[in-house]
Amino acid sequence: MNFNTALLHEGVDKKEKFGATLTPIYQSSAFYQQTADNLAGIFGNKAPGYCYTRVANPTISAFENRINKLEGGIGTIAAASGMAALFNAVTNIVRSGDEIVSSASLYGGTIDLFRDLEAFGITTRYVQNNNWEQIEAAINDKTRLVFAETIGNPSLDVTDIDKLAELAHKHGVPLLVDNTCATPYLIKVLEHGADIVINSSSKYINGSSNSISGVLTDSGKFKWDKERYPGLAEYVKFGPYAYIAKLRNGLFRNTGACLSPQTAFLNSIGLETLGLRMERECSNADKLAHFLEDNYKDFTVNYPGLESSPWHEIAKKELKHGYGAIITLRVGSKEKAFKLLDSLNIAYRLSNIGDTKTLVIHPASTISLHSTKQQQEDAGVFDDLIRISVGIEDFEDLRDDFIQAIKKI
Ligand SMILES: *Cc1c(COP(=O)(O)O)cnc(C)c1O
Repeated sequence: MNFNTALLHEGVDKKEKFGATLTPIYQSSAFYQQTADNLAGIFGNKAPGYCYTRVANPTISAFENRINKLEGGIGTIAAASGMAALFNAVTNIVRSGDEIVSSASLYGGTIDLFRDLEAFGITTRYVQNNNWEQIEAAINDKTRLVFAETIGNPSLDVTDIDKLAELAHKHGVPLLVDNTCATPYLIKVLEHGADIVINSSSKYINGSSNSISGVLTDSGKFKWDKERYPGLAEYVKFGPYAYIAKLRNGLFRNTGACLSPQTAFLNSIGLETLGLRMERECSNADKLAHFLEDNYKDFTVNYPGLESSPWHEIAKKELKHGYGAIITLRVGSKEKAFKLLDSLNIAYRLSNIGDTKTLVIHPASTISLHSTKQQQEDAGVFDDLIRISVGIEDFEDLRDDFIQAIKKI
């Protein structure tokens, strides 16, 4: 099936009990069984079925199955937020003394999370994205994973996933990719060699900002070495399912950041229009980026679809259908950036991306506030920079809103 058809039909349970076309919301904390033996079987992972929503739930499974098909994985876990999915994805394979090698161009929350992990003896070595020599030099025998975002939020650099995966694998470690800004519409990173993909489904997958959630999907292809990953030793008998089995049986159920069934339902609705929305959002973003670059020479417009982007060639090679729907704009000073944000009438000033509506923010004073100045600059955040998450409005209205707001500065 092609992308949009697959969104509607792949991984969908067509044998729903009463024929509902979308798995209903099973708003139940727990599930009773006919016999104590059945319940024991479910708890022991020896029988199919549900026992407790923190562990699994039919509405959540329905959403997970669709994401799993979409990403081409062997197992997907949905969590209460993108951050929870990231935390689970990473801590499933690292322990005290281990190291992470990560692109420095990350979402601020992830930089904060990696700093929090230091208290548990897990350190992160930051490298410049796509700087192969620097990345290779940072990998050592303590490294347990390589991490990057496909399109860095908000620096908008584009990772060469094929190359990074090859490099990680050469050193016997997996590549974990946060694909939130690109979405599977632009790239299915598992097909490009990444081992685990994480999406904040609060963004484009949900699509209209009605709930927070995250998903992680395993390709099942990475061969876990028992010595290097002692935590996985008792799970390697599950072959490709080792990573997901460990997570489901351990940290994921024990840290308890499960999704709510209602959110899983809303996400399943959102997922069906991911392709349509992305098509429009990417097209609007491409037009707006070109318009701003062509007409405001004092500004620096950053968008992977612009030939002026240092990442344009990688983006052209790697991304399908478009270049994403996020633009950043440097306008000369923080004062001008604030004034511009305050003068926009259509775009919402808020901290989010991937909505149907256009959203704008000043990252340095908000989402990257807790990073150091150096971390901010490495992540492409400057005092005069605004980020625009382009929505599905009619382009002419968006353009006119920017024209009138820019006139004020
Ligand atoms: C929003 C975001 C996250 C965190 O997701 P939440 O759902 O807000 O927890 C992680 N990575 C990227 C790239 C994001 O944009």
